[in-house]
Amino acid sequence: MNSKILNIINKQSLTKEDLSFLISLSGAERDYFLKSVGSKYPKTLGKKVFFRGLVEFSNYCTKDCYYCGIRKSNSHSQRYDIDDKAIIEAAIFAHKNQYGSIVLQSGERSDNTFTERITKLLKEVKSVTQGELGITLSLGEQSEDVYREWFSAGAHRYLLRIESSNKELYYKIHPNDDKHNFESRINCLKILQKIGYQTGTGVMIGLPFQTYNHLADDLLFFKGMEIDMVGMGPFIEHTETPLYQHRKTLWPLQRRFEVALNMIAALRLLMPDINIAAATALQAIDPMGREKALKYGANVIMPNITPTIHRKDYTLYENKPCTDEGAEDCSNCLSIRVEMAGREIGYGEWGDSKHYFKRHQQTER
Ligand code: SAH
Ligand code: SF4
Repeated sequence: MNSKILNIINKQSLTKEDLSFLISLSGAERDYFLKSVGSKYPKTLGKKVFFRGLVEFSNYCTKDCYYCGIRKSNSHSQRYDIDDKAIIEAAIFAHKNQYGSIVLQSGERSDNTFTERITKLLKEVKSVTQGELGITLSLGEQSEDVYREWFSAGAHRYLLRIESSNKELYYKIHPNDDKHNFESRINCLKILQKIGYQTGTGVMIGLPFQTYNHLADDLLFFKGMEIDMVGMGPFIEHTETPLYQHRKTLWPLQRRFEVALNMIAALRLLMPDINIAAATALQAIDPMGREKALKYGANVIMPNITPTIHRKDYTLYENKPCTDEGAEDCSNCLSIRVEMAGREIGYGEWGDSKHYFKRHQQTER
C-alpha cells in the first residue's frame, strides 16, 4: 500500500480517483502519506509560515446558511458590532507585532452604511500603518462595484469559501433562494480574480451528505479555478442551526479532523505554490490541530486579534478555541507553537500567494 501512496505522491498530475484515495486514508497508511508530504513540500515552498491577524468585527448577518451559528434566524445569538476605533487598534496591534497583514471578517451585509464604512476603515488602516499592513477581506458576496471600491481603498486579498463545489450538496446546506445562489457565489470568485485580488476559497469537511468523491472534486475545483489561497476546516455542528438535525449521520469529530488534514496534504500536492491556511476549526477538535496542519501542508495561520469581550459571540460553531485569551497571549502562544511544528514565522511579511504572482508575472513584495 505504501508504494501505491508513494506512486501517487510522485505523479505529475493527480486524478479524482487518486485524490479520493488519499483523502480517505486512515491508520498507518494515513501517517505514511502525511509524513511523506510533510517532508517533501518545505523543500519547494520553504519553511515560512505567515500570520494574518483575524478581526471578527461583527456577527450581524443577513444570510441564513444552514450550518452557521450566527445565521440571521438564530435569535439566541448575542449580536455585536465592534466600533471602528477598536478595529483600528487591533490593526495597529498586528502591525506592531509584525504580523504583516490582517483579515477583516464578519457576517454578510451589503447595505451602503456597511460598504461605505469598510471603505473608510480600509483607508484608515492603510494610513495608520503607513501602507505596510496587508489587508484581506472576508465579507461575503458583494457587487462588482463594491469589490472594486474596496480594492482601490487598499484590500488586496479576499476570502470567499464555496463551502461545497457540488451544486446539489450546496443546496442541502443553504436555502435555495436568490441570497444563497450557487452560481452567484462562483461568479463572485471570478469577479474578484478579474479585479486583481488574490482570491481565496475553501470548503467545510465532514458536512452531512458529503463523500470523499465530493471532497476530491472540491480540490479539483480549486485547481480548475486557479485559486491563490485556500482555507478549509472541519464542519462542527451548532445546536441552533438546521443542520444539527443530521448530527447522528456525521463522521465522528476525530475523523473529520483526520480527513481535514488529508485534504490539506492532498491539496499541497495538487497546488504546490498556493497559500493554505491552518483553519481555526481544526483547533476546536485537537488542541494541536493547527500545528499539525502546518506540518502537512498549510503555510498560513490566523491568530485571533478580535477584542476579547466579543470573541465568545462570534460562534460560527461551538467549542471555538481561544475565546478568552487576549491578543498578546495569543501571539506568544502561537510563535512557540509554530516553532514546535518545525516552521519559521515570516515576521512583517505580507506572505502573498506565490501562485498569484506566477499567474500575473509580477514582482512579489
Ligand atoms: N460571512 C462570510 C464570512 C464569515 S463565515 C462568509 O460566509 O463568507 C466564515 C466561514 O465560517 C464560512 O465560510 C464557513 O465555511 C465557516 N463556518 C460557518 N459555520 C461553520 C461551522 N458550523 N463549522 C465550521 N465552519 C463553519
Ligand atoms: Fe452569514 Fe457567513 Fe454565517 Fe452564512 S456563513 S450565515 S453568510 S456569517
